[in-house]
Amino acid sequence: MYSAARIFQKIKSWRAFSAAFLRNTSPSKPLFGTNERFYPEQIQRHRNEPTKLQFAMISDPKFGEGIVSKIPFHRGELIFRFDGQLRDTQTLFTLQKKPGVYIEDPYFMGKILHCCDPNASVDMENQLFWARKDIQPGELITMDYESTEDELFRSFHCQCGAPTCRGRIAGKAAKSTP
Ligand SMILES: [Zn+2]
Repeated sequence: MYSAARIFQKIKSWRAFSAAFLRNTSPSKPLFGTNERFYPEQIQRHRNEPTKLQFAMISDPKFGEGIVSKIPFHRGELIFRFDGQLRDTQTLFTLQKKPGVYIEDPYFMGKILHCCDPNASVDMENQLFWARKDIQPGELITMDYESTEDELFRSFHCQCGAPTCRGRIAGKAAKSTP
């Protein structure tokens, strides 16, 4: 997980940036092409896994890596199912499944940025991301790290720009109200 989340202040430049991705995506690309996966071949393909037809990874020196949607999602819709390795310790790329049990996905889920008013919610039991708002192409997929983590691997000062921004993001145990 990345602590950089000052995203909405920069949303216009993100949009321009991701629009370039969209333009470069050939609509005739086959659904099961050789290069559409974020996961390496040793991770078995699963239904609803994220593909490069639906999402793009973006990188900014200031905000770090994030995931942008290339397609629209309606509120309540399934966004993707992630996969990863179960661990008993946290890393930058883990989310907490239950106390002391983490799932590590350095390929996709671990790149999702935090927002205090995110557009996605996470079902850790089934490893699903759901749209909690309508999502437009070019928008970053965001989640609330304090919805899953008792304690963050690395706490940070959030500048997501949401009116409900909680400032210091440290984990559920330390969750404060704005
Ligand atoms: Zn915030």
